[in-house]
This record gives sequence, structure tokens and C-alpha cells, in this order.
Amino acid sequence: MIALLDANNFFVSCERVFRPDLMNKPVAVLSNNDGCLISRSNEVKALGVPMGAPYFKYKEILKDHNVAIFSSHFTLYGDMSGRMMDLIDSLVPRIEVYSIDEAFIDLSGVRDIEALCNHIRNLIWRSLGIPTSIGIAKTKTLAKVANHYAKRVPAFKSICYLKEDPRVDQALKLLSVGEVWGIGRQITKKLEGQGILTAYDLKRVDPRCMRQNFNVVGERIVRELNGVSCLELEDIEALKKSTQVTRSFSKTITELDELRSTIATYATRLGQKLREQGLVTKNVMVCIRTSKFRASDPQYANSHTMVLPSFVGQEGQLDLFSRHVEEPFQSEKLWEALDLVNKRYGRGTVFSAACGKGLTWKDQKKHLSQPYTTSWHHLPLVFAK
Ligand SMILES: [Mg+2]
Repeated sequence: MIALLDANNFFVSCERVFRPDLMNKPVAVLSNNDGCLISRSNEVKALGVPMGAPYFKYKEILKDHNVAIFSSHFTLYGDMSGRMMDLIDSLVPRIEVYSIDEAFIDLSGVRDIEALCNHIRNLIWRSLGIPTSIGIAKTKTLAKVANHYAKRVPAFKSICYLKEDPRVDQALKLLSVGEVWGIGRQITKKLEGQGILTAYDLKRVDPRCMRQNFNVVGERIVRELNGVSCLELEDIEALKKSTQVTRSFSKTITELDELRSTIATYATRLGQKLREQGLVTKNVMVCIRTSKFRASDPQYANSHTMVLPSFVGQEGQLDLFSRHVEEPFQSEKLWEALDLVNKRYGRGTVFSAACGKGLTWKDQKKHLSQPYTTSWHHLPLVFAK
């Protein structure tokens, strides 16, 4: 059996840990630059404000309902996520961190599965104050389905165990095919065109046909729905093929110089991200577009891909400064030092001249909370009476 543990409204939950006054009150977290809503408390979901809604469009509604707004604070969320994963790891034989707030747990050899899962949930709640939901089933795909119900059906009390077939089928019949893990929008359309509307319909498709009509992943999903595990825990940790930095700007950029230095600033961040993940790249793509939410303005979108002149070995680093490819290690050390300085003294302490003015306007983060867990100066204060 495999469990999928998923934190409920994770970013909102992280903010609430340090703002207990917001428990059971409407809370939303915005994307970078305070652009869109990326995490909503149940109260905000109940208002009908959709995921990804542009903030400026819903500002009034959110204000009318006294919704507490936070800018995204990834240092805080990353740290809370690390604590949560460490905690799970200390209780189970094997976990695979799937995203910032999700982990698959290998339950082979565990005797009382439900008791263990209850214990994990309770301990995370007691130690970190983060509410979670757990779905348990024979395969990862089915564990995802179980988690879907754990979150939505109050009677399950946040743990849904799809143990045997009549129960599994019942769950699959009530789930539309597009909700199945790995079934994207395009495939959903095609499947619906063929009369495959629910996860149960998909389960009954011949896996080989699925492979012929779609791909090997499609085939695996069908097998997994049938209880045959074909996604090993480590399989999923496939090498990342691409990484990106995207922002909606807090103001309209009309000057080419400003656009240039802004792109240089984001390229710098991207380089830092690549180095953190130990990745190298040969291709860089830059995309720009006007705001699609300002439909009355003339619209423009364009992109350009560049092949970098030099890049060092498979394990090597990008060589952005020097033209001397024979000295890669020197540039590696330089970047290492730069990253270290910027990490210790704040992003943008040292930057390349190309970023120029780009750094004078910062990401808009009007509603940022304190770095409670990562800075000695911002430890939360507790008063006891
Ligand atoms: Mg979640």
C-alpha cells in the first residue's frame, strides 16, 4: 500500500501557524509580484474565488469579505515543508517528496496502516500546526484518487483508505476522467470524445489501446487504476528537463533599456536556480507578453530562444562571464562566492552590471509576513498570562 500525504491549503496553513487569530477566517496567498491567488483557505474557496484568479480583479470582493491577504513567502513555506518532510521521514520506512506539500509514503510491511497514518497526521498537526489529508491505496494513481476524497468528504476525517475493489470502483465512478493524476486537458478532451467520462471508464480501457492512442504514460495510468503498481517511488524523480522564472510585472514596462535589465535580473535568478539544482543548460528562452487581463490594451507576445556559446561538461556550470572555457572551475568558484554573498546579505547584494536599473524596482510584496522560522530577529513572540 502507498499513501499520499498532502497538506491542506499549504501556503495559507503556513501563514496561519504564526497568525492563530486567522484560524477559521478567510485567508489567501498571492503569487510573485502579488499577481494572482495561489492558495485559498476553504472560506475563500466558498466565496467562489477561483484558483489563479488575478488579484486586482477580485480585490474588492476580497476586501468586502475581510479576507486576509499575504504575499507569497517561499522562504517560510520551504522551511515548513522541510520540517514536515523530516517528521514524516522519521516515522516511516520510505518517503518520496513529490512537491512542496505532498509526499508519497511506502507502507509495505506496516501492520496497522490506518493507525500509522492517523499518527502521522496528528503529529504534523501537533508539532507544526499544519493540517493534512492522506489517501491510501495500492498504487500512486489510486492514492491520489483517495486523497481527493480525503480532502473533500468530511466523513473520512481527512484519511481515505481505498482498500478493496467495490470501494475503489465506487470512488472511480464518481471521479471525472480529467481529475485523474497525469491526465491533462488535451487527453481529457480526446477521452471524453470517445465516451470515457469517469475514472472508472478509464480503468476499463485496454491498456495497450491506451498506449497506441496516447503514450506509455497513459498505459501506466490505466494499469495503476487497476491496482497494478508501475510507477516506482524513485522512478518519479526523473531529471528535470527545464526550469523557469516567470513574473507578472507590477507596472507596465515601455522602455527597451528597462526591459533589458529586467530580463538580465531574471536571467541571474535563473542561473542561481540552475546552480542550486546542479543543472546545466544549453538553451535559454525569453518570453514576454502584455497583460491578458487588460483586454482593452493592444496585445503583444513574443519569444526568442538562444543557444549558449559555451557550456561545460555534464556536471559543469554555465559560463556567463568568461570566454575562456578552459577555466571553468574559476568561474564556478566565482558564482559560488556570489551565491553565498547574496544568500547571506540578501538577493541583489552583488549583481552583474547588465541588471543595471532592473534591481531598483523589486517584486511587489506588499503583504509579506515575517521570516518566523529562518531569522533570529523575527522569532515569534509568545506572551503567557
Ligand atoms: Mg496541498
